[in-house]
Amino acid sequence: MNNRVEEVHLITIAGNRPEIIKVSQLVKSLNKTYRNNFVYTGQHFSANMKDIFTDELNITFDYDLRSNTSDILVLRENIRGLLQQIQPTHVLVYGDTNSTVAGALAAKDCGCRLFHIEAGLRCFDLSKPEERNRIQVDALSDYYLVPTELSKLFLKFEGVPEERIFVTGNLVSDVCRKLYQEIKDKKRRSDIPAEYVLLTLHRPALVDNEDMLKILSRFLSNVEHKILFPIHPRTKSSLEKYGITLPDNVRVIDAVGYSEFLSLLKDAMIVLTDSGGVQEESIILKRPCVTLNNTTERQETILLKANRLYHPLDGAGQQCSINEVIREMLNVKISVNPYGEDVTNRAYKVISSIIE
Ligand code: UDP
Repeated sequence: MNNRVEEVHLITIAGNRPEIIKVSQLVKSLNKTYRNNFVYTGQHFSANMKDIFTDELNITFDYDLRSNTSDILVLRENIRGLLQQIQPTHVLVYGDTNSTVAGALAAKDCGCRLFHIEAGLRCFDLSKPEERNRIQVDALSDYYLVPTELSKLFLKFEGVPEERIFVTGNLVSDVCRKLYQEIKDKKRRSDIPAEYVLLTLHRPALVDNEDMLKILSRFLSNVEHKILFPIHPRTKSSLEKYGITLPDNVRVIDAVGYSEFLSLLKDAMIVLTDSGGVQEESIILKRPCVTLNNTTERQETILLKANRLYHPLDGAGQQCSINEVIREMLNVKISVNPYGEDVTNRAYKVISSIIE
């Protein structure tokens, strides 16, 4: 190692399931050359939202802050305490969660240079907490690794100097394709329907509110197909809290590990989701997707016609029923992955070129 590299001390921060998945390969690459610590904030803490992924992706945290909260103030305080103790030079944060914001704030509290990976996504709806998080983290960042040219354009419009923006593709593309290749020939579980719509739901705006959950339940009962629903713990506890049972066409299973989820996704007729990551994986694995929301920041998936927006609340006001939308989407042939290949390598090279 040259002296310059020895002075570098990186911290990569993750706080929840999608962040563990998405940074896993990049962390392994960085660990080979640099002093890089992988820090987990503990925003997601149950075994099926955390340990199952570290085991499967063969990755370990150097520090687990066990915050057990999504409160930004607490997360920031915990991260800052660690940064003050180990004094890194650079911090890498991913995406748009409260852990991302807390990590970015703590990095700036401690005078670290900040990389934002998956920067520049925008849905242009400030009522969405994730949009506010993205904008806040992008305002604090020094370097921006963006998944597509569109994200670069959005950042440039906001005044970010072009030389700080790097189009690398989306890290999930490598992780998702690699894991799927490894498991694609494995035997499928026998307790799922032969044909099904795959559903994921976890956004607080949809699942934290009793009335909204009742609307969702009615909405799902109108879907003409069997629905397979690996349930997020947040949604599960909310349904239990309000005593709401889902209709008979919905088969609920516990949230599953990443490989199993990818295999369920690839075998599904179509995906209904409110998850950002699942919208990306759907287009990568060439499954049509309907996003249960009125906006998305994964704009490329809409532009390529692999994804449609449909808000369960607006259903009555929309021109098509959900079944008509599903029927149309089942005819879509997806041929392009907008998120690139060899993304880990490209991200690694960008980070190296900046820190050395
Ligand atoms: N996922 C999983 N098991 C499941 C459901 C989802 O591994 O039972 C993965 C999915 O493949 C995606 C990520 O979890 O990579 C999405 O997480 P989530 O919906 O919690 O967050 P978001 O993507 O909306 O930030």
